Amino acid sequence: MKQSVLAWFDSARYQSALSDTQASGIDWVRILPFIGLHLACLLVFWVGVSPIAVAAFAFSYLLRMFAITAFYHRYFAHRSFKTSRAIQFVFAVIGAASTQRGPLWWAAHHRQHHRCADQAEDPHAPRHGFLWSHMGWFLSREHFVTDPKRIPDLIEYPELRLLDRFALLVPVVYAAAWFGLGAILSATAPGLETSGAQLLVWGYFLSTVVLIHATLTINSLAHVWGKRRYATRDDSRNNFWLALLTLGEGWHNNHHHYPGSARQGFFWWEIDLSYYVLKAMSWVGLVWDVKSVPEPIRRARLVQAES
Ligand SMILES: [Zn+2]
Ligand SMILES: [Zn+2]
Repeated sequence: MKQSVLAWFDSARYQSALSDTQASGIDWVRILPFIGLHLACLLVFWVGVSPIAVAAFAFSYLLRMFAITAFYHRYFAHRSFKTSRAIQFVFAVIGAASTQRGPLWWAAHHRQHHRCADQAEDPHAPRHGFLWSHMGWFLSREHFVTDPKRIPDLIEYPELRLLDRFALLVPVVYAAAWFGLGAILSATAPGLETSGAQLLVWGYFLSTVVLIHATLTINSLAHVWGKRRYATRDDSRNNFWLALLTLGEGWHNNHHHYPGSARQGFFWWEIDLSYYVLKAMSWVGLVWDVKSVPEPIRRARLVQAES
């Protein structure tokens, strides 16, 4: 139990404690912060709402969803574009503020998902239970640990290893920053009718819970709900609503067909907001070598052609 509590802030403690065992099942002590995050949303009945609080919610959601989809997923897990070491670190930190653990942990598990999607070794296949695919897997002991063999290209960066090890410190600082901003605004601009507690609840607690579950729908819903364009070996689907919610990740059948593309909406009508922002970043030199889907691959293995 002591290891689980210490591992809230230092995941290396978990790594060493589990290395000799084949532990499994939900670690209730370890996930107390996750449960607390959900309960904290109830504070909204106490702090109320204001226009600036809604703006804080939206800004916080969009910024971190972009860091998750464009960087945790398309960059760290799939290396579908290139960037500088500084930009890599900045978006790794913003991604960590999403409270979805560090970039190494995230990329290692996601690469495993692609290696054997919807098979026995997939960490989060809905075939193993819908709730398991949405939440159960990452709350379980066997999935707290990062396998370094899956991320040899990322583990060489000491700053990423450090960030991964102390990943929960980032959201703590991020949440405190929202509280601080709210406190400053209530003192300097009382007309906004906000407070430290209100921006903490809207900018961090509510925004983070929605962000986490929206991200998780790609592991759960995007493997059961939607249309299949490509005859991939998994159950992945394309879903317009999930694509809107996750800035483009809902084109998940496209993505399983060709994971190396930074662009997941393969056609102009498939809205992929993360890709548009990446494209704009490439125009000013912040990222480069942004990969798209080659035309022969876009036309290959179509479900309609096979049936
Ligand atoms: Zn998938
Ligand atoms: Zn992927």
